Amino acid sequence: MSSLFPHILSKGNYTYQDFNMLTSGYLSGDIEESEMEDWIKHIFKRGMSIEESALYTKSIIKSGQKIDFSELDNPVVDKHSTGGVGDKVSLILGPLLAAYGYNVPMIVGTSLGHTGGTLDKLCSIPGYRPYLELEEFKNIVKKNGISIMGQTKQLCPADRKIYELRDRMNMIDSYPLICGSIMSKKIAEGIDSLVLDIKTGNGAFMYSMDMAMNLGNLLKKIGELNGVKVQVAITDMNQPLGIYSGIACEVQESIDALNGNGDSDLMDVVYHLAESIILLNGEESDKKKLKELINSGKAFDKFNGMVEAHGGSLNEFHNKNYHAAKPSYVLKADSNGFLKSFSTKRIGEVLSSIGSGTLGNKDGIDNWSGLKVYKKIADEVNQGDPVLEFYCSSEEKINNLSGEVNKFFEISSRETKKQKLIYQ
Ligand code: URA
Repeated sequence: MSSLFPHILSKGNYTYQDFNMLTSGYLSGDIEESEMEDWIKHIFKRGMSIEESALYTKSIIKSGQKIDFSELDNPVVDKHSTGGVGDKVSLILGPLLAAYGYNVPMIVGTSLGHTGGTLDKLCSIPGYRPYLELEEFKNIVKKNGISIMGQTKQLCPADRKIYELRDRMNMIDSYPLICGSIMSKKIAEGIDSLVLDIKTGNGAFMYSMDMAMNLGNLLKKIGELNGVKVQVAITDMNQPLGIYSGIACEVQESIDALNGNGDSDLMDVVYHLAESIILLNGEESDKKKLKELINSGKAFDKFNGMVEAHGGSLNEFHNKNYHAAKPSYVLKADSNGFLKSFSTKRIGEVLSSIGSGTLGNKDGIDNWSGLKVYKKIADEVNQGDPVLEFYCSSEEKINNLSGEVNKFFEISSRETKKQKLIYQ
């Protein structure tokens, strides 16, 4: 046992030195895994004050490098989403903000639980290098305005190790530990401002508005206490966002959106977040200008520039024919009426199991896996109309789905209300 450790469990207020001792000690091996397990269990019961959460975050940042963009004149910004089904917003918003003139160094994750991972989606582009040295990442941002990659050993290594342990212990669910983990990676990117897209609804981790607001407030405070301006948005996750959810199909939908053919709900979220970050940087938001950046192809050029800088090729992506027919399972309306609700979390779990995530799937990510949503809440449906279509490259997995007894959606004989999309 580390001689420094025992007093940590009985401590009143934690100081920055306490957290540093803990995070750097665990990283170096001075603090043993069993000790860290005890501390994580302790925090689950004890919680942390906001100030402590901010100091914990700072100590995680200190375990690695923080990128320095101080030589750049224009704002350095990012966005973080708490995750959902069909949430491809980063792939559109990031290039849009880069086309606007902002610098966007975006560190993203792989799938988590029933939700999709931006990095998994990008990796369906042949050649795309998901992990770069920080210097190369920084240079791409400086040249192209945006780069998206995964967390590497250089960035918040204590978070990687603690997160892995929390995952093994099945103890992810602690607000201060989640917030420290999320915010450390964002702050280490060297950003000045961040927009948070907190998803709420039956397909979100924060399924109630209270949970979403609590998480948003804590993330915002941690950011501000570490010198980053933060704006919180709360948006709906009671149905998949956009038309497609999955891997390559979400990249294709994002490319279409960047070429001016985006689903209206998807684009409303993109513009809302873009305007939030522009306002946060003290500028007047101008939706017309944002739309022009999409319609002129300038935002798409930033996406393509990023893909090429990462070694990827959109030509090869298109040659893969990800949209070609594959084994699929179509769920149809069993009565006439109006679509009332989706079991969004269950939809995400099934998607993951057929290859879009790791939950219930030991075979790795299947780039061909996905879901097409034919009807949205409040749409009129006739008996026999397709509502959802799951597909992937494994016939066996698709055949297994036909035994799935869960109801994925509900139809009402009466007209239903369109789902509110943006709460804050
Ligand atoms: N995402 C993270 O990066 N960390 C957490 O702890 C939870 C979600």
